[in-house]
Amino acid sequence: SYVGIHSTSFRDFLLKPELLKAITDCGFEHPSEVQQVCIPQAILGTDVLCQAKSGLGKTAVFVLSTLQQIEPVAGECSVLVMCHTRELAFQIRNEYQRFSKYMPEVKTSVFYGGTDIKENEKLLANKETHPHVIVATPGRLNALVREKKLRLGSVQRFVLDECDKMLDQIDMRRDVQEIFRATPTQKQVMMFSATLSPATRPVCKKFMQNPLEIYVDDETKLTLHGLQQYYVKLGEAEKNRRLNDILDQLNYNQVIVFVKSTVRATELDRLLRECHFPSVAVHSGVSQEERIKRYTDFKNFVHRVCVSTDVFGRGIDIERINVAINYDMPDSPQNPGASDKDSLAQAADTYLHRVGRAGRFGTKGVSVSFVSTERDEQVLKAIEARFERKIEEYPEGGEGVNV
Ligand code: ADP
Ligand code: MG
Repeated sequence: SYVGIHSTSFRDFLLKPELLKAITDCGFEHPSEVQQVCIPQAILGTDVLCQAKSGLGKTAVFVLSTLQQIEPVAGECSVLVMCHTRELAFQIRNEYQRFSKYMPEVKTSVFYGGTDIKENEKLLANKETHPHVIVATPGRLNALVREKKLRLGSVQRFVLDECDKMLDQIDMRRDVQEIFRATPTQKQVMMFSATLSPATRPVCKKFMQNPLEIYVDDETKLTLHGLQQYYVKLGEAEKNRRLNDILDQLNYNQVIVFVKSTVRATELDRLLRECHFPSVAVHSGVSQEERIKRYTDFKNFVHRVCVSTDVFGRGIDIERINVAINYDMPDSPQNPGASDKDSLAQAADTYLHRVGRAGRFGTKGVSVSFVSTERDEQVLKAIEARFERKIEEYPEGGEGVNV
């Protein structure tokens, strides 16, 4: 290329031809910034602690760099990836399948709770089916390790996606630590999130040796440029009416609507379907099989509207979502002991992840947040202050809001 005009390509990373071919099939043309920075070092086995904003391709960083280095041995797992929800584990496993399309010798599996553990055990008991890459949620994985159904003595790469979430929650952290201790000392460790507070970073680094550290210290850079953010002030009782109006006004492709409880998800979904919106609900109140089915259906455009709890708040990548609605403003009731400052910061994190479901990979999107209580207003202010971004009032009739 010309001096000063350097457009990188995936070829520059010297990846295996099998991988390059799969990348082309996926329609990826140029690596994103985070991929340019991380992949060259990650494929050399360097530990990576990476914060980069939503939707810019963190998954491909670890999927490509682990597949680049993999030397599959029958009956041994060498790559272990963990994340905080079942749907995300399922999604990441699909990414492994997509990118390992031309590496038929590489076997990948996904393990998470709510499914028959015997099925996992069967897979692990047979050398022919034993995966080389495992994507899992920590609870189920730890159960398999404790029962000695899975041995981790061959693990060479250990990846945590949404690492702050996984290490902030005590029970999940305990499982992660126990699993970590069951793996060899010498291994590559990589962790990713859009949010990595200065307090969380040292916790992550305890698992690593001399990591490549990528942070977004200027938090204003975490907001998505393509995303127009709005709020609506209203009473609790007006929410359904307004949601209805907004869904009528906006020319959405797919919408995600966040609520604060499974009961509210079920009820709102029912209401929307009664009003003839093609809606579905995803939350922890439905069976696991059904949850994955609904996730897949939504991803495949069978439904246009998804009502969800924070189960879908992070990591979930659905290309066609261009509108994200906070029917209930995020808050952090799971940490009643936290200081107000911490809990507002957590609510702002949750907000950032949620609205990041719209406007993936630089596409345009709209977010609308319903503000109905004083606390909601506090949270809104905290978000504006944190990301130094004014959230505009949603205009009457949706005038000028384009998706
Ligand atoms: P993050 O984890 O950083 O939030 P994802 O890894 O989920 O983001 O990627 C978001 C979307 O961008 C996915 O649909 C993915 O397929 C797509 N994507 C990632 N990297 C590229 C690329 N280099 N070119 C085009 N699309 C990409
Ligand atoms: Mg992600």
